[in-house]
Amino acid sequence: MVRLLAALFTPVLCFAATGGEDVAKSLREVELDAAECHRVHDVQLNKDDIHFYFTDGYLIFGKPVNGIRTAAVFTNEVEAGDAELLLLPPVRSERQSLASYTGSPNLEEHISATVFLFADHTYDDLMQQIRANAFDKRSPEMGALMSEQWEPVVRNLSASFETRLLLDLLSPRRRQDGFFIAAVNGKTLGNFDVVYEPRAFEQIGVGQLASRANRTFFDIWTNFEAAPYRKGVRKFQGSELSLKDYRIDATLEPSLNLRVVTKVKVAVAEPGESVLPFDMTGRMHVSSATIDGAPAEVLEADSLRSNLIRNNGSNLFLVVAPDPLQPGREYEVEFHHEGAVVEDAGSQVYFVGPRGTWYPNSGIQFARFDLTFRYPKDLDLVTPGDVVSDITEGDVRSTRRVVDVPIRFAGFNLGVYNRTRVVRAPYTIEVCANRAVEAALQPKPHPSRVGRQPAAAHAPLPPSPVPRLEELAAEVASTFEFMSTRFGPPPLKTLEVSPIPGAFGQGFPGLLYLSTMAYLHREDAALANLDPQVQSFFVDLLQAHETAHQWWGNVVTTAGYHDDWLMESLANYSALLYLEKSSGRNLMDAALENYRNRLLAKNPNGQTVDSAGPIVLGARLESSLAPSAWVAITYGKGSWIMHMLRALMGEDRFLAMLAELRRRYESKTISTEEFRQFASEFLPPKSPDAKLEAFFDQWVYGTGIPTLKLSYSVHGRAPAVKLTGTVSQSDVDSEFSVQVPVEIQCGGKRQVKWVRTSSSAAAFTVTLPQAPTKVVLDTSSVLAASK
Ligand SMILES: [Zn+2]
Repeated sequence: MVRLLAALFTPVLCFAATGGEDVAKSLREVELDAAECHRVHDVQLNKDDIHFYFTDGYLIFGKPVNGIRTAAVFTNEVEAGDAELLLLPPVRSERQSLASYTGSPNLEEHISATVFLFADHTYDDLMQQIRANAFDKRSPEMGALMSEQWEPVVRNLSASFETRLLLDLLSPRRRQDGFFIAAVNGKTLGNFDVVYEPRAFEQIGVGQLASRANRTFFDIWTNFEAAPYRKGVRKFQGSELSLKDYRIDATLEPSLNLRVVTKVKVAVAEPGESVLPFDMTGRMHVSSATIDGAPAEVLEADSLRSNLIRNNGSNLFLVVAPDPLQPGREYEVEFHHEGAVVEDAGSQVYFVGPRGTWYPNSGIQFARFDLTFRYPKDLDLVTPGDVVSDITEGDVRSTRRVVDVPIRFAGFNLGVYNRTRVVRAPYTIEVCANRAVEAALQPKPHPSRVGRQPAAAHAPLPPSPVPRLEELAAEVASTFEFMSTRFGPPPLKTLEVSPIPGAFGQGFPGLLYLSTMAYLHREDAALANLDPQVQSFFVDLLQAHETAHQWWGNVVTTAGYHDDWLMESLANYSALLYLEKSSGRNLMDAALENYRNRLLAKNPNGQTVDSAGPIVLGARLESSLAPSAWVAITYGKGSWIMHMLRALMGEDRFLAMLAELRRRYESKTISTEEFRQFASEFLPPKSPDAKLEAFFDQWVYGTGIPTLKLSYSVHGRAPAVKLTGTVSQSDVDSEFSVQVPVEIQCGGKRQVKWVRTSSSAAAFTVTLPQAPTKVVLDTSSVLAASK
């Protein structure tokens, strides 16, 4: 409606007032321009580290969209036609990653055809060369053929990146460093994408859609900072919006549709911006938005491919302001949105399904929340914050909660709950349990007996989450107390704990989701037959891990996927610290041993799970090459990294580091490099690797777990027995080195000799008062295999 009016009454301001939806439509219906088809010879396309060389072939451009040509297609369909893509990742870990997918650390690929989309000056750059080159000539006949063949492909790709292209097309400022994607048909590597995304920490990415075992992955071959960013010529801006003071009014209809009005105060970083990017789960749709009460246009589209690349569970959508916004003042943006974010798992078990945010957000934001939920009165609903009002009228219950400190995210959960409360001043723990388990955990009759006897007679009783409720609440309360004593205050004084179907958990500020399995006893049918380590994960570790995320992920957080391992490793190791304190060192050692075994397990191709890639690859480790590597490396190796830092620092310094981390990075993000520098402050004086550079190169930025072998012999006699030996290592690069304790038992006393390994066998000598009774490698504090 607004759009039509604008078009009717402001024809003079045609360019500025063009409705975003019209531009979106032009993108979806983009046409190739037969008149702009060129026979090209030795033309280059350079986008920082991305280099295309069109040796010989045809290049056709798309017709302008909002005044800009946004598409091009190259094909080498001429005699001796050729083109090449060259891309050299600047760091070792990225060259390694690329090689694991393509067999080569650099990308040098001959290409048959490529579809390009861009919202920058690519067209001008190419045309400048084409015009200057006497050889080139227009070929409308070939143009007509190419249009017919390629237009559907271009439109498909254009629709796939519609919202992202619109963001640049509608914002002239952004076009100086705009989005670019090339869908390449390589001669040896098949179809893959090359992306330049200035809104990402690492602007350049190459990846491929791949499927394995009925799952679709977007394998990211390499992803790194573009040259101008690496050299500091350009600076990554982070989130272009800052959001604060959310007021959310949500109504859960009996159909489980959630209808929401979200109000938030928004400030922009750059002058003259009128296109505001937001993230939200694709299951929510925005019906309207206003800025300071004035209607604003909303542009959202299902951009499957671009959202797979973003991989955060949320979709990008845009709000176009009627007038440009100015920095230094706050605007009130109001959204009306709704969608099916609440799911029914059967047996009156409900949960919030999408991984992405259920309200409009933008990057990492710490904001205050005022939340009102209206919901069917037979349900219970939990969300962070202090209850301000709670009334039931007719069939509708309405609860308002206020979070008066800035938090990273406001989650919620709902069900038909039994509740218990534990107060450990100044903190309160509220634990909710479903009265029944979800349908998936309801026992099924033994298949062999079906048909012979009535099935129901053989179905065991369903497990119930209720009997362990008090015990679980006491455990969470003890964990919360243990952690707040060591790390400092959590984000909120009240922690709500609620169930979620499935085998995982999640920790939001003031709210945990715990797998139904964490509510069960070891003897319950759903847990009884599992591996003891898996049982232990649900019963001992999961609640502590999620509780620890109150600090690691919610007080301190990370901004990019390269750094996410930090929060997971800190949360998991904090859970292990609690386990060590509450149940003894043996349980912690058993968990670490289990992680070591999983990292050393071999893939079908004979390589260790650890070799899938360094921990900083984050979610990229969940690729079609080794789908389970991400879990083993993020949680297992991550815990080992923290465990080894503890051994390097000593107990007191390690705990001091955790407390200071929470204090110094409160409501801030931390990167892997910042963490390395920070952690090195807590090393004992005169530590050999004083900046932790070697440690991080080896364990964080690299792969490899050494196999160590101890050999020794004893000479002489009491009181001067000479023990000489060597520790040799295998299965790792020549630069690899670990500090490992050799444990010596002698005359009822235990002593330790530290040995630093290298590519050649490391020798050691110890003089003892008498012959030793035992000499062994102690690998309890170093990630190594021994033989
Ligand atoms: Zn976690």
